[in-house]
Amino acid sequence: MGLRFTVLSSGSTGNAMVVQSGDVNLLVDVGFSAKKMDQLMKEREISGSDIDAILVTHEHSDHIKGLGAFARKYDLPIYANEKTWEELNRQIGEIAEENKHVMETGSFRDFGTLKVESFGISHDAAEPVGFCFHEGEQKLALATDLGYMSSKVKETISDADAIVLETNHDVEMLRMGHYPWNIKRRILGDKGHLSNEAAAEALCDVMTSKTKSVYMAHLSRDHNLMDLARLTVNNIVEERGVSLKEQKVQLVDTYFDRPTKWDALDPE
Ligand SMILES: [Zn+2]
Ligand SMILES: [Zn+2]
Repeated sequence: MGLRFTVLSSGSTGNAMVVQSGDVNLLVDVGFSAKKMDQLMKEREISGSDIDAILVTHEHSDHIKGLGAFARKYDLPIYANEKTWEELNRQIGEIAEENKHVMETGSFRDFGTLKVESFGISHDAAEPVGFCFHEGEQKLALATDLGYMSSKVKETISDADAIVLETNHDVEMLRMGHYPWNIKRRILGDKGHLSNEAAAEALCDVMTSKTKSVYMAHLSRDHNLMDLARLTVNNIVEERGVSLKEQKVQLVDTYFDRPTKWDALDPE
């Protein structure tokens, strides 16, 4: 069986992704209204009724905006860790008890043959996580909303076939931008967001000969540009003596307002 996925939308304004293997469909985060989620999913010819479970990375609104409404509409189970649940309970309205599932940080959970691994990340939320999805030898990693990438996270996501990696901002654009200084400091801090530069540095440590695609994700609308992210990542990786072209690693765009194509990982 093969794993495939689509980033339904990504950016500071909203995030959601679908991971599919066999007849299992997992939705990661619901950062848009239920109506908008239906539209995005329709573009990739799936619907909420195909989804088996929702996984939640953390409780910021760009990840849970439509979570309550969407889960209620399709009667979907939600998986999050305990501290995130404490926040969700306050924010997303009523969820049937049988649809509330605790998935502890660092744990694994099987959905059919698809194995999901959660891992802790450094970000200013209750207990934020990223996920790895394993199907046989295939591996997809999701690492967005992190102030820096610890060696533990690097170890966890290394050797993935595909990585959805935060390239949130260009440091200079952010510094020069109009945000108040305390917000800039938050974004630049250890519990903020990964810059293009930091993402590139991290990428050098986590990619292997198995890695085929890197999705540049969670871009700031005010302090980044897709082309700039691409250029920066390419340049920094090259400075470290690695050629993405030679390694046949593709840098893939994500969008604020539309899904990426379905990407099927290489069969084993
Ligand atoms: Zn966040
Ligand atoms: Zn976010």
